[in-house]
Amino acid sequence: MIVGTRKPLAEIQDMLKGFDRILLSGCDTCVAECVAGGRKEVAELAAALRMAFQMAGREVDIRENSVDRQCIHEFLLDVVEQAESAQAVLSLACGAGVQALAAHLPEIPVFPALNTLFIGETAERGLWLENCRGCGDCLLGLTGGICPVTRCAKSLLNGPCGGPKNGLCEINLAREFNPEVPCAWLQIYERLMALGQLDRLMQVARPKDWSQGDAGGPRRVLRPDQRP
Ligand code: SF4
Ligand code: SF4
Repeated sequence: MIVGTRKPLAEIQDMLKGFDRILLSGCDTCVAECVAGGRKEVAELAAALRMAFQMAGREVDIRENSVDRQCIHEFLLDVVEQAESAQAVLSLACGAGVQALAAHLPEIPVFPALNTLFIGETAERGLWLENCRGCGDCLLGLTGGICPVTRCAKSLLNGPCGGPKNGLCEINLAREFNPEVPCAWLQIYERLMALGQLDRLMQVARPKDWSQGDAGGPRRVLRPDQRP
């Protein structure tokens, strides 16, 4: 899933300066799961904005809607219809959803209410972890299902650096934010040992072709067999 967090209210208000009819549009899939941009968060943000605008002496018409997936064009038809009477749209989807919606509304500005962060998992209630960078050439088969590209701070492919301390990554230990991140290579080693697959570590990973990831510019997948 895509994980995001809501921008500060002041930043959102600033983006919406000068607009009196605003449609808030949520996405009920990834960003609903991470409690940032689903139907409930649309209602909460709409209430907060109404109050903020009222306190600023502004009369602003704020409408709300939500779709199952803002990044899929077929789901956007209802939003587009409702957006036609708005001066601006505030999307609570991830960056892909915001752009898909903007592509359907060439004459109406579409603003992001979220900061899109990463591809990750819900580890427990209120905790989301980054675990994939979409590198385009997945290595999980060699590393016991633990991603060295994402979960090793240096994206090392052939074992650990010399820095882990007490099982923790040296990079994270040096930061105030998020200090206790396990060394991914220690986790890979322990997992492969538990699976009886330590021999996989004897394979030397070849230099990675980063052009298959985002280093090669925007990517696309074209499946002729799936096209009309
Ligand atoms: S190796 Fe690449 S595709 Fe596989 S989980 Fe890591 S970043 Fe994602
Ligand atoms: S301590 Fe471990 S996770 Fe951190 S950079 Fe070194 S090998 Fe990677």
